[in-house]
Amino acid sequence: MCGIVGYIGYEQAAPFLLKGLEKLEYRGYDSSGICLNDGSELVVKKAKGKLEELKKLTDNGRALSGTVGIGHTRWATHGEPSDVNAHPHLSESGRFAVVHNGIIENYLQLKEYLISKGVTFRSMTDTEVIAQLIEFYYKGDLIDTVIKVLSRLDGSYALGVISVDDPDRIIAVRKESPLIIGIGQGENYIASDVPAILAKTKRIYRLENNEIAILRRDSIKIINTDREEVKKQEETISWTIDAAEKGGYEHFMFKEIMEQPKVIHDTISPRIRNGRVVLDEISLTPEQLRSFRKINILACGSAYHVGVVAKYIFEKLLRIPVEADLASEFRYRDPIVDDKTLTIVISQSGETADTKEAMKEAQRRGSHVISIVNVVGSAIATESDDVIYTWAGPEIAVATTKAYSAQLAVIYLMAIFFGDLLGTIDEKQYGYYVSELLTIPDKISQILENSTQVQYLASKLFNSKDIFFIGRNIDYALSLEGSLKLKEISYIHSEAYAAGELKHGTISLIENGTLVIALATHEPLIAKTVSNIREVQTRGANVLCLACDDHKELADVAQSTVFIPKICDMMLPSLAVVPLQLFAYYVASAKGCDIDKPRNLAKSVTVE
Ligand code: GLU
Repeated sequence: MCGIVGYIGYEQAAPFLLKGLEKLEYRGYDSSGICLNDGSELVVKKAKGKLEELKKLTDNGRALSGTVGIGHTRWATHGEPSDVNAHPHLSESGRFAVVHNGIIENYLQLKEYLISKGVTFRSMTDTEVIAQLIEFYYKGDLIDTVIKVLSRLDGSYALGVISVDDPDRIIAVRKESPLIIGIGQGENYIASDVPAILAKTKRIYRLENNEIAILRRDSIKIINTDREEVKKQEETISWTIDAAEKGGYEHFMFKEIMEQPKVIHDTISPRIRNGRVVLDEISLTPEQLRSFRKINILACGSAYHVGVVAKYIFEKLLRIPVEADLASEFRYRDPIVDDKTLTIVISQSGETADTKEAMKEAQRRGSHVISIVNVVGSAIATESDDVIYTWAGPEIAVATTKAYSAQLAVIYLMAIFFGDLLGTIDEKQYGYYVSELLTIPDKISQILENSTQVQYLASKLFNSKDIFFIGRNIDYALSLEGSLKLKEISYIHSEAYAAGELKHGTISLIENGTLVIALATHEPLIAKTVSNIREVQTRGANVLCLACDDHKELADVAQSTVFIPKICDMMLPSLAVVPLQLFAYYVASAKGCDIDKPRNLAKSVTVE
């Protein structure tokens, strides 16, 4: 998820590796490391924290010699951020070194297998199994060995591999995690992203899934897993460093919106095995789970909006009362919480001060806390009773998109998992929900491919002064997020309203031309929402409706309509949020706002 860089040439590798890693710093990371082949052994230096620490440790790279090396900035997914968990990882004897971006889904089985064969592990990472497997299978041919190891790995990876016995090669491979090969003169490079190598070359190959690159000083060969050579098209990068950091997009927010299919895939797929949801992270027994009388969800901002969606889903599937509470309110209202209450806290950073304190309050009162957190080893992750990590990778834009989506994905996993344990969903529903869940990434990709329609609507509507979002049930829960996204980055006043509640006051604000965004995806209540659309239209509102593909008739109801693919009701927010994010983005862009760093806002709110 974070940064990889590699060098093979005639110059000292370490200074280049450090500079390359510096260019990947913008992606966020928690530790870093480099490994060089000094001719007789693989020398590794790693440090938790900023790259500065690694630079100090290596005297800016001068302390290490070698013309072949790999480097890494880590965003921990398995094992807390620490020196020992930082990459590169060595095999037991130190003959092989690996850097890895991504997640090895079956690492535990592999680790147990290797331990049973007498292999000793040093770190808590999933990555180390790769280095250990290479050594375990090595019979003299590194390429054959890497191919064999790949056949054992499930999950996503971009890998850089070096071996002390093979001082003139770097092996690079990827699956579902980006990796590029930089083409130089008398030297070649690998990197997870263009900025790392732009100072050296603009000529690259982009590796596709399961392609293996063999880099020597003067040649690059790309093969498939049958060892057949693959002819690659060379690409010339015309981007500036700034554009390259954003993956060629103008803003991190857009890049992160586009990353959502992958992020959701990364978060759910390791947790679905043979059609079953596996949440090893949860330590509760079915008896404990059955003893809960209530679920409390505590969060702030967008994470709170995930909690509101979760309330609808959990209550329907689990038949337990759920309260979604703003963490800042919960703390100070003498809440009714005890050991019969399950508390779920949600925070991207895991450091949100209000959420952390609310969590402690719940724990003081005897409640079991499960956290949903993106940053491994953060305070909330460490202090909660159980933690389920979202594997969204670092989020740079202040306005959350991919972390929100990953949190929602965890809610679905929990709903299915708990529903099964409690016996509130049957096998047929179970199978249906799991198969629907797996379709989310592709359906989001479809929506993203059609983003120009939303862009067009935003270009017509960006001058609105007030925008109302309305919806019922989960559409209401989602409208809260649509409205927040818009106001955060475009500074347009906006409110989210339960559609049925409009007539109790807010409808007086609707006048000629007021923009109302009506969410009408929740099948059982579409007719009711249509009535609310009629109500506001009668008062002059301009209605943009968000609906599912199978309700094309809604195009005749609203002034404009955006359609999303159909999916089971509870998962609709995952699809419907995407056009809302895009709308907020394009409106803010049309208004020339500072999208990634909106005024007055910080990414992680660590003060009360
Ligand atoms: N899953 C690996 C780890 O936790 C790689 C993380 C990354 O992509 O930075 O070490």
